[in-house]
Amino acid sequence: MAHPLILKGGTIVTMDSKRRCFKGDLEIIGNKIHRIGKSLKPGSKARVVNVSNQFVIPGLIQTHTHLVQCLFRGWADDMSLLDWLKTRIWPLEQAHTQKTIQTSARLALAEMQMLGTTSILDMATVKNTDAVLETVKESGMRYWGGKCLMDLKSFSGPLYEDTETSLKETEALIKHWHNDNDLMNYALCPRFAVSCTENILKACVYLQDKYDLLIHTHASESLEEIAIIKKRTGFDNVSYLKNLGMLNSKTVIVHGVHLTGNEIMDMVKAKTPLAHCPSSNLKLASGIAPIFDYLKQGMTVSMGSDGAPCNNTMDPFMEMRLTALLQKPKFGPEALPALTALEMATLQGAKTIGREDEIGSLESGKLADVVTVRRDHPSVTNVEDPYSALVYSCSGRDVAHVFINGKCVVKNGRHFRWNPQELGQESRSQIQFLIKKISCSTTL
Ligand SMILES: [Zn+2]
Repeated sequence: MAHPLILKGGTIVTMDSKRRCFKGDLEIIGNKIHRIGKSLKPGSKARVVNVSNQFVIPGLIQTHTHLVQCLFRGWADDMSLLDWLKTRIWPLEQAHTQKTIQTSARLALAEMQMLGTTSILDMATVKNTDAVLETVKESGMRYWGGKCLMDLKSFSGPLYEDTETSLKETEALIKHWHNDNDLMNYALCPRFAVSCTENILKACVYLQDKYDLLIHTHASESLEEIAIIKKRTGFDNVSYLKNLGMLNSKTVIVHGVHLTGNEIMDMVKAKTPLAHCPSSNLKLASGIAPIFDYLKQGMTVSMGSDGAPCNNTMDPFMEMRLTALLQKPKFGPEALPALTALEMATLQGAKTIGREDEIGSLESGKLADVVTVRRDHPSVTNVEDPYSALVYSCSGRDVAHVFINGKCVVKNGRHFRWNPQELGQESRSQIQFLIKKISCSTTL
């Protein structure tokens, strides 16, 4: 049996059904939270880590990310969604090699873990998915994600891949990677209806059912994208997906900035969760999703940072703060309190990926995805209310320790495997290589 580890003397923000917060201890044994209490007696073999003056919170869950885009951070600023995709992101994704993908994923995973993220739902690119998944495995991240599908030639730019090849590779990846270990889960990732044929979207519904998988897709992010789908199919974006049988509790709709009343009702009825990405929606000028309305109607809403080039950080604390603040001008100061924002990054995230019984709160028997956050910075040190402190004052750079599945991946702010300076150096040289490569073939 693994030796127990006790996090001692922190402010424990449990997010359990009573939302208890108290000064106390949390014990991890193996990959589970064993005990939580005001003062736990350590056994003779227990390792004790003093976390006084820190919050102890459930690991944060990001339900929409793109590990492969991390290298492009800072190379695609101040543009609208379709321009951003067509002239920067797609050519750069196409130019990726196994090596550049690996570096991009390492940088993104190190960043997210160091900023308190313990689970992600990710979308890779069309090629080299194995390189992404191998890197994820090295990182110890709790992961859902998979190969990006883009089989509609006229709307996929350089990333086009025919339907048969895409599906064949997808099924091989599912067989290799789904449940490869405790942390790896495959998810079907049609990029968005704009780039996908009806055949591949229907095939995703079939594969979802066959292998019991999540579907992860962008929808209703920008008005321009909705107009393309409407012209092609006669339906609004999410209504179109509903007609194909895609709306259910295992399909995660990303963005949903511009949903009609009927689409909101359909998603609630089908228990279809939404991944909200406020920074990305602002930076690409897509709009502000009325999350207050969605929550009021009973939708499950979690959050994600999206890819690094449309954010440009992958800090879940930033997304919590923005999620809360953005609803207030329209719906009032009480519309989305700090506690609700933290619930979206923990419990609602767990519900989005169907694992609310295992992660999302600190309770005995749950998996040990645990984060500690320093409260000694002048910007937070005088805040008593933990929810206020965590959502309005802290940032991911206050994170001290991160445990995923009981394993320490960040200790005193340092990543267990990767050095940010080395990653930075490698990333800067590799993005230069990719830019050079696409400069020959595009206008960038
Ligand atoms: Zn995205």
